[in-house]
Amino acid sequence: MKNYDVVVIGSGPAGYVSAIRAAQLGLKTLCIEKWVNEDGKHVNGGTCLNVGCIPSKALLDSSHKYWETTNDLKIHGISIKDVDINVPKMHERKNKVVSQLTSGVAGLFKTNGVETAFGHGKLHSGKKVSITDENGETSEVTADNVILASGSKPIEIPVAKVDNELILDSTGALNIASVPGRLGIIGAGVIGLELGSVWSRLGSQVVLLEALDDFLAIMDKQIAKESKKIFVKQGLDIRLGARVIGTEVADDQVVVTYRNGEDIQKETFDKLIVCVGRRPHTENLLAPESGVEVDERGSVFVNEYCATNVPGVYAVGDLVRGPMLAHKGSEEGVMVAERIAGHKAQLNYDIVPNVIYTHPEVASVGKTEEQVKASGDPYNVGTFPFLASGRALAANDSDGLVKIIAHAETDRILGCHIVGPSAADLTQQVAIAMEFGSSAEDLGMTVFGHPTLSEAVHEAALSVNGAAIHMPNRKKQK
Ligand code: FAD
Ligand code: AMP
Repeated sequence: MKNYDVVVIGSGPAGYVSAIRAAQLGLKTLCIEKWVNEDGKHVNGGTCLNVGCIPSKALLDSSHKYWETTNDLKIHGISIKDVDINVPKMHERKNKVVSQLTSGVAGLFKTNGVETAFGHGKLHSGKKVSITDENGETSEVTADNVILASGSKPIEIPVAKVDNELILDSTGALNIASVPGRLGIIGAGVIGLELGSVWSRLGSQVVLLEALDDFLAIMDKQIAKESKKIFVKQGLDIRLGARVIGTEVADDQVVVTYRNGEDIQKETFDKLIVCVGRRPHTENLLAPESGVEVDERGSVFVNEYCATNVPGVYAVGDLVRGPMLAHKGSEEGVMVAERIAGHKAQLNYDIVPNVIYTHPEVASVGKTEEQVKASGDPYNVGTFPFLASGRALAANDSDGLVKIIAHAETDRILGCHIVGPSAADLTQQVAIAMEFGSSAEDLGMTVFGHPTLSEAVHEAALSVNGAAIHMPNRKKQK
């Protein structure tokens, strides 16, 4: 039986990155993947590249261009007649981007010397891994180290059974063939808002039904409130406290029943997307004798270094605790590969950026104001609205604000929350500063190019200590 230094199960961003890093460090590495795409091809890249981050961003970018052409160009003095959206062509472009990136992973595996096996991987005792291919043929390998990276699956709810005709999950929603007249979405979370934005920009009337009373409940409250205002202005119909309790398909439409307090309401849609979250994917991954512990949420139980309870077995990405984000999984993959190779790697879980790729984007890193308040630490807040940013105004893209929270005594930055143009990239600047232990003053003393959107970050950092230049300060400078 062939033995490897490292066997990785799953080639999503957590698995393929860990496999590449392990091979770079001289470890004999095998990555097992079972994904077969719509064309019947074996592909790497997992949810992120095939049906997640990448195709959703491709559709968001296409639909944003359409929206700009139809809504925003006039103000710049540009008029265009007969604007049209060719949905099949839009999907064709998206599919091309996806296949470029998935074959890119295969190329990276080759150049780094990662071996691949296509089939279903399963961990047995003694770090033995079986691989069952699509013909049901099983082979076995052993490994000194196993990295489990089998990712996650959409959560299904019995009240809205996905048929991928009228009731879709996030995967089906990436392939809607024509713009639906009325589109319902269950769950106003990250994926619901992104997919809702795509189809709303193309002309659908979009209604988001969210069970919770709070919008974006885990985000900074001020930023969530501002985001909701902007999304509603864009035409998204966001109904909070709306728990879906039933669906009925009739005459090519879906009738959704939801409870809002004591009221029972009904809505009819041409399509319904179910976006109620994702769950760890552990089906047939672990033979009982493997001894690997799974927690009550179905996540593989790991410590801060992603080690499971079985020595030499690790788990990374959506399969384990923490936010289900591609970059979080990738960094866990790097950390594990480096630790297997004997390095002292670790991951700073306090500084993991989180982004909603709507327009404007909503992005955050570090603690929310509510979390800082609850911790009892004294703090200062600095904000800066994009309305006061020359660059944002020049671009006619001035909705939103930057918010920076810093410790009142040490001035160390504790969190940054932005809704606004390029919020993801701006938040990343603060994430880097936080990683280096920056104070708000440090950021304020940094020279920012003019005119840039980044200047809004600069001004928010200055405003933490009452020293913003381009808006009135709420408190006096010390
Ligand atoms: P996955 O990407 O799910 O990969 C797991 C892989 O393991 C799959 O290829 C699967 O086939 C394979 N596998 C599973 N079991 C086995 C087995 N037994 N044997 C062999 N192979 C197996 N995150 C972001 O950070 N940014 C975004 O913008 C973003 N957008 C998203 C948009 C959508 C619509 C969705 C659905 C998700 C999005 N995410 C985003 C989340 C992101 O896709 C996931 O966090 C990420 O893919 C998780 O990576 P992973 O490697 O842990 O798992
Ligand atoms: P996320 O976790 O960001 O993917 O968001 C999923 C959202 O779906 C959460 O905000 C949930 O509150 C919401 N949700 C879950 N079940 C229901 C339901 N039956 N009706 C409406 N919203 C729901």
